[in-house]
Amino acid sequence: MQHIKNYINGQLIEPVSKTYLDNYNPSNGKVYSYIPDSDGKDVDLAYAAANAAFKEWSTTPKDKRSYYLLKIASLIQKNLDKLALAESIDNGKPVKLAKSIDIPRAAANFHFYGTGILHYSSHAHDMEGSAINYTLRQPVGVAGCISPWNLPLYLFSWKIAPALAAGCTVVAKPSEITPMTAYLLSEICIEAGLPAGVLNIVHGLGGKVGNAIVSHKDIPLISFTGGTVTGKHIASIAAPMFKKMSLELGGKNPNIIFADCDYDKMLTTTINSSFSNQGQICLCGSRIFVERSIYEKFKKDFVAKTKTLIVGDPQNDKTRIGAIVSKSHQEKILSYIELAKTEGGTILCGGKKHSAPGELSEGYYLEPTIIEGLKYDCRTNQEEIFGPVVTITPFDTEEEALMMANSTIYGLASIVWTENLTRAHRMANAIHAGIVWINCWLLRDLRTPFGGVKASGVGREGGFEALDFFTEPKNVCIKL
Ligand code: NAD
Repeated sequence: MQHIKNYINGQLIEPVSKTYLDNYNPSNGKVYSYIPDSDGKDVDLAYAAANAAFKEWSTTPKDKRSYYLLKIASLIQKNLDKLALAESIDNGKPVKLAKSIDIPRAAANFHFYGTGILHYSSHAHDMEGSAINYTLRQPVGVAGCISPWNLPLYLFSWKIAPALAAGCTVVAKPSEITPMTAYLLSEICIEAGLPAGVLNIVHGLGGKVGNAIVSHKDIPLISFTGGTVTGKHIASIAAPMFKKMSLELGGKNPNIIFADCDYDKMLTTTINSSFSNQGQICLCGSRIFVERSIYEKFKKDFVAKTKTLIVGDPQNDKTRIGAIVSKSHQEKILSYIELAKTEGGTILCGGKKHSAPGELSEGYYLEPTIIEGLKYDCRTNQEEIFGPVVTITPFDTEEEALMMANSTIYGLASIVWTENLTRAHRMANAIHAGIVWINCWLLRDLRTPFGGVKASGVGREGGFEALDFFTEPKNVCIKL
């Protein structure tokens, strides 16, 4: 069975401890490879390599840095099938989804920052002939990048690409639950000829490797995507050390459907925004609020359409709902369905494990689940479940929809369906979220700021915001 390796100083190496963790295939519940059980010693090696590489990389001309990023982008594209299959096996997601979203978007991230850095500029402030200020944007140093399991390569690249483009060197940690495509990326970086030490990938547990990165005294910047509880813990360590931090955390996003929407478009997209990637996308709209006049029709059509979604083998192109990422996450989601029942919810469809046949019988499958009859402020409607589970709730007025939408501690994304332009603007203005999608979902322009408010995070990724994050502004004032 394959042993994944750490990527440190340009080499694929064993963890210092020489010990490994089991890596499960969620589609059949079997161990299929081993992950380095790295610790602080491996992070120290990675830091030393990144630090040694920093001087040269940070002064490498932008077009040379761009060259490497574009080469990595094209190698990701070239290996699309291999990477998509690896992502699907590691994560449980349908291979079709990995092939159409995860891997192309990972390549796009490298491509975007490979070209974006060439257009990045800083400011000058002229003091009417008496002095001139210009602002340098200098790479911060060795960046610590930590990512989650739901969109493994895609979110990993969303951090690494801007960090490298900006001239930082990197110590990165993918999720221990889905390490495979980060490992394959290290092979790609070697093939691309990326100089040794510029990118270092250390595999292992959050409490060991992640913690060692966050608390490392010489890593001045942490870019983290993951759960809100972990983000809070990371902030408690990094903030007193005055580290620069970007935290992309959990969500409990509202999907607000007005009666005047384009109904068919809304229904099709709402299926995706509810259940794509088994509902394990931080941007999924898990609380669906529907204007009362179309509530019953929506309920009937939404339930009927959800029941047609094929659950099971992620390798089958017809599958829409693959496996949940791990057994423990499957159990967590099931416990929320039980909670919903005790809170007075009615399960309209799904609500239980799905049994796949034969080889896949031990896989972690769940039926897509729709719940109604819950109060907007109950735990099921306030806490992030992060699975194929949505609630539907009727509303009578725009004010009521807005109040319920804004009632959680989170503020990541939101979706509004209406053909009334004035109302769309009004809602976009009033919703507490970093992202508002009107009549669409998951539409992405890489130049736009990405991130959340409240407990959904601090800071923004995307576009030049990410390059700002990975660089430090230094103002130079010259008296004329
Ligand atoms: P998680 O917080 O458990 O883990 C995320 C990463 O942090 C992993 O690599 C993990 O090993 C590491 N980690 C865990 N403990 C750590 C510690 N003490 N110190 C340092 N690192 C540590 O999250 P997850 O379960 O992998 O991902 C799901 C969560 O991520 C959900 O809450 C989801 O909403 C969120 N998410 C947010 C976004 C966003 O852009 N806002 C995107 C995707 C996922």
